[in-house]
Amino acid sequence: MKNILVLNCGSSSVKYELLNIKSSSVLAKGLVERVGMEDAVLHYHFLKDDSIYDDIKLVRNIPTHREAIQFIIRSIEDDEYGVIEDMNDIYGIGHRVVHGGEKYTDSVYITKEVKNDIKDYIPLAPLHNPHQLAGIEACEELIPDHPQVAVFDTAFHQTMPEAAYMYAFPYDMYKKFGIRKYGFHGTSHKYVSQRTAAILKKSPEDLKIITCHLGNGASICAVKNGKSVDTSMGFTPLAGLMMGTRTGDFDPAILLYIMNKEALSLSEANTMINRHSGLYGVSGVSRDFREVIEKCHNGHKRAKLAVDMFAYRIRHYIGAYAAIMNGVDVLVFTAGIGENSVELREIVCKDMDYMGIELDKEKNEACGAGEGIISSAGSPVRVMCVPTNEELLIAEETHNIIESKKEK
Ligand code: ADP
Repeated sequence: MKNILVLNCGSSSVKYELLNIKSSSVLAKGLVERVGMEDAVLHYHFLKDDSIYDDIKLVRNIPTHREAIQFIIRSIEDDEYGVIEDMNDIYGIGHRVVHGGEKYTDSVYITKEVKNDIKDYIPLAPLHNPHQLAGIEACEELIPDHPQVAVFDTAFHQTMPEAAYMYAFPYDMYKKFGIRKYGFHGTSHKYVSQRTAAILKKSPEDLKIITCHLGNGASICAVKNGKSVDTSMGFTPLAGLMMGTRTGDFDPAILLYIMNKEALSLSEANTMINRHSGLYGVSGVSRDFREVIEKCHNGHKRAKLAVDMFAYRIRHYIGAYAAIMNGVDVLVFTAGIGENSVELREIVCKDMDYMGIELDKEKNEACGAGEGIISSAGSPVRVMCVPTNEELLIAEETHNIIESKKEK
């Protein structure tokens, strides 16, 4: 059976999905949260009777990622609510790994060398790579015969030209510390751009697409002929758009100024730009876009400012990316805010007719959080909503890499 287990290990959580590759269906999915605590929780949704999902919640002491993964395995093969007989029904495991540096331009079969590299990139992604490595090692121990594949967030962006990824620091900084733009959310931008081409029955090779991944973390990508040529996140996922709690782009001298004025330590400054800024910092309301926009409707001035700034920066990048690609064929919205907020899509696309973006109000409303074209019939640029599905792409790449390894 061609089932792939997709794992996304965070600092205190493990997200998982078990997918059948033939039918692209999800057999079970969920999340273990509060890993490291005595009252960790497993949320488990499983497919029952072909179409209906049932869900359960179990509380346990889960000290490490190893126990979390063991808990997930036990659940999917459980006599009562499991969805497979045993682990022989699993073909392979796909891991989301945040940083693959400059070396990994694609997903890869996990070997000792790959694990060493993931470890070497820990300084570039200290909040993610250690936990993803822990997940890989736990699987090696728990299900040793199962092949594993790493799918990197940074891989899709490794096609950016040098002029796009270099920062104008002394060149030494690049050589010594790898200071350059890496970009993130690559799996989502890749999936969404490929899905967009498939919906339009075109080859990605023939399209210039701007994908807007707007969730708690947000980034935009310019995809020309199927390849990422620029993206808004940078050396870290702080750069680019304004986000739930992150600043996005700002004049770096501001940080030096505030650190000096407020006598902030490095760690306090880091907290300010990553956790106390963005929609939350400006509005003072919440990091959650739904709550901010609701306050905005009630006349809350700072909430309105936050929404205006959020949309302004998206428009700014759309203009920039149309310029660097010498035009754009499709503008795509995805992730929590992009998929769900009809209103945000309308604000972003307002007065963009000069560059051929003409949103159709009715189509936008009718599309809601679904998949479809939301521009007017005559709009030179197609505008679309395409829900992202990173897990499906991870499962497909895991399957393909295992297959091709077998053929060799
Ligand atoms: P991440 O995966 O980066 O944590 P998501 O892609 O789940 O984030 O997106 C979360 C964001 O989506 C939140 O800001 C949330 O308010 C927003 N969101 C979810 N549903 C809606 C909705 N119906 N309308 C507007 N925003 C929404």
